[in-house]
Amino acid sequence: MARDTMTRSDSDEHTNIIGRIRDEVLRRRRFLLTSHARPDGDSIGSQVAMAFALDALGKAVRIVNADPPPEHYQDFPGVGRIEIASQATPEVDAVIVMECSDLGRTGVAGLEDQFLINIDHHAGNTHYGALNWHDVSAAACGEMVFDLIRALGVPLTQEIATHVYLAILTDTGSFHHSNITPRTFDICRETVEAGVNPAIMARRVFDSNSFGKLKLIGALLDSMELVDEGRLAVLRIDDAMLEACGCTNNDTEGIINLPLTAREIQAVVFFKVSPNGEVRVSMRSKYDVDVRFVATQFGGGGHKNAAGFTVDGRLEDVRADILQRLIAAIEHGLQTRPQ
Ligand code: AMP
Ligand code: MN
Repeated sequence: MARDTMTRSDSDEHTNIIGRIRDEVLRRRRFLLTSHARPDGDSIGSQVAMAFALDALGKAVRIVNADPPPEHYQDFPGVGRIEIASQATPEVDAVIVMECSDLGRTGVAGLEDQFLINIDHHAGNTHYGALNWHDVSAAACGEMVFDLIRALGVPLTQEIATHVYLAILTDTGSFHHSNITPRTFDICRETVEAGVNPAIMARRVFDSNSFGKLKLIGALLDSMELVDEGRLAVLRIDDAMLEACGCTNNDTEGIINLPLTAREIQAVVFFKVSPNGEVRVSMRSKYDVDVRFVATQFGGGGHKNAAGFTVDGRLEDVRADILQRLIAAIEHGLQTRPQ
């Protein structure tokens, strides 16, 4: 199968790959959209915006994800149409995979032999598609979806704009991460002109906590460990803690960002221990502290300021190593920190 790939946001290449994706989309009729397992705001926003755009073109569209959307996104327009399945045997003409660095991360089996269009901004994307649009300069995959929707000639409805804004608002860590560019604000401006209300979006996305979650935040911050003279915060959660606060896994979303509100803290690592012993590790950082570099050393990935991986084996065996590498990343990052 012919492969066409773009890795830099160089404008000629950019225009070329968008044009090729546009042509393939326009000449095909039935689409399946997917993204990474445990979808976040960028996965949901990118997929649903794309689905609305394909609807507008009269295409047949399904969205299939391995896991349900986080609860506070459920009442956003179009989110209810997301189907949950770990296996898809689609009768479609193309699968558009958004915000997913390799096909396995979809958690959806059966897509390998389809005509795959890969649209992603994660460094380390494996270019698994027939068409690969890989732009690490995009602050959110939603920025790329916005460009494609424009190229398809679909008007920016309020629904599409809402999902593009959702993708950007969440993937920039509510405009905290260092991946924001003038283009980010150009796109946001257009979404606001199309009817998005930033105040309502911020409230719906970030201020939708249950009382249980507030309790959980208290418990987590209370048990937070500080290392490296307070520059690294370590959080740990297990099911007993969730249960004690009447919470589920979904309620942990966003909590990782709270320690970064302390001036001294440069990075946070959050260990999420499930009952079967699996440990997922999430990391966040400020400025040039590169937690993605740490994640790749343990088989994971992500972005400079937000990355993660799953521990292969027992946490106790690698915990000290993880902290050591994070401390090294902090040392390195502080040397180039903007003043
Ligand atoms: P999270 O901490 O789960 O919100 O993830 C932060 C960032 O790291 C997101 O961009 C994820 O896609 C990425 N990420 C998390 N876990 C993994 C993993 N196991 N492999 C690759 N990327 C990951
Ligand atoms: Mn993203």
